[in-house]
Amino acid sequence: MHSADVIVVGGGSFGAAVAYGLVRQGVDTVILDGSDDSLRAARGNFGLVWVQSKGMGLQRYADWSRESSHLWTDFADDLQDSAGIHVNYQNGGGLNLLLSEEERENCRRSIDIMRQQAGPDGYDAEIIERDEVQKMVPGLRVGDEVAGASFGPHDGHANPLRLLRALHCGFEHRGGRYFAQNEVVSITHDGSAFVAQTANDRFVAPKIVIACGHGITKLAPMVGLNAPIRPQRGQVLVTERIETTVEMALGSIRQTDEGGFMFGNSEEEVGFNDGTTLPIAGNIAARAVKAFPQLSGVRLVRNWGCIRVLTPDKCAIYDESETMPGAYVATSHSGVTLAAVNAHHVANWVATGDTPPDFDHFSARRFDVPAAA
Ligand SMILES: Cc1cc2nc3c(=O)[nH]c(=O)nc-3n(C[C@H](O)[C@H](O)[C@H](O)COP(=O)(O)OP(=O)(O)OC[C@H]3O[C@@H](n4cnc5c(N)ncnc54)[C@H](O)[C@@H]3O)c2cc1C
Repeated sequence: MHSADVIVVGGGSFGAAVAYGLVRQGVDTVILDGSDDSLRAARGNFGLVWVQSKGMGLQRYADWSRESSHLWTDFADDLQDSAGIHVNYQNGGGLNLLLSEEERENCRRSIDIMRQQAGPDGYDAEIIERDEVQKMVPGLRVGDEVAGASFGPHDGHANPLRLLRALHCGFEHRGGRYFAQNEVVSITHDGSAFVAQTANDRFVAPKIVIACGHGITKLAPMVGLNAPIRPQRGQVLVTERIETTVEMALGSIRQTDEGGFMFGNSEEEVGFNDGTTLPIAGNIAARAVKAFPQLSGVRLVRNWGCIRVLTPDKCAIYDESETMPGAYVATSHSGVTLAAVNAHHVANWVATGDTPPDFDHFSARRFDVPAAA
């Protein structure tokens, strides 16, 4: 039997960020995590800190994403101090390349809707022309078929594997206890505290945060919570390292700090199948070459499939149980983007009960309202 102030279930992007923020506040915290073969989007994602397309239909989520990007520079510095790991955060804005007039028109419509939704607070992303794109990406010739791009000033990117490593190292360095291969099978309340049962052990704490990706659907109902998430596959391709330096974050073609390019991201409804397929990989590569023809000679070295954690409206869920206070759920498909707010505001919410403004907008109760026929 192990005891702590807070148990965090899940050591992926969400759980590790909240747990890191908790130990930074001096809260005695354990992370209970799955094993290396668990579904873990934290290991297969694209590494974007992305704001420009977030929050259609839920303005609080658009604001939340922007707030996180504003915290990211300090967050990355803090991780460097705690863990000695540089996550290579770049925050010069981000481009989403538009490869046809149809894509440009769809993007224009989305920007109009986001502007109306944001009202006086404003919405900063805008469409820019191909010449301007070329100036922002001087290292590569932009393809003739590029019909402009949407530019978001708050976007950036980081190395996602170093981020996960830094969160874990920083957590342990600040006194947190991490238990791998301790998948939680049940959560009960014994009258004074929550008891998380794993195959090997029992863990007891007055507070528990369920932030374990797809594991949430099984565990949340045990504490009176609901998190209706579903899987969606994204395939990613990685090239050999090349010298060209493209520092700016690009939505689906980005050069990593190590020199390789990452191409992505498909959106496939294939359940929990995290395999790869040649037709999808081919489409992703063809788009990259259309955007930057010079990339056609570059060799691909890896291709993987990874499962997104998607809520019905693609926005985050943060909830505290009404029937079992002290139990929380936290999830979204933007675990890199939101790592800074998770380590800051969400950890503070769990530690002190100080609820961020309008936080009820993130409750899963929003899905209880039946859609109009
Ligand atoms: C292809 C792709 C590209 C993406 N690109 C981006 C991007 O550019 N920017 C961005 O912000 N986000 C991106 N994401 C999303 C991001 O990776 C996820 O939002 C994030 O990883 C979710 O974090 P999580 O901790 O909820 O889940 P995960 O990272 O999946 O981690 C879940 C963890 O919980 C553990 N676990 C599961 N069940 C249990 C249990 N019962 N007990 C204990 N532990 C358990 C698992 O072992 C795992 O470690 C992308 C995702 C995909 C698939």
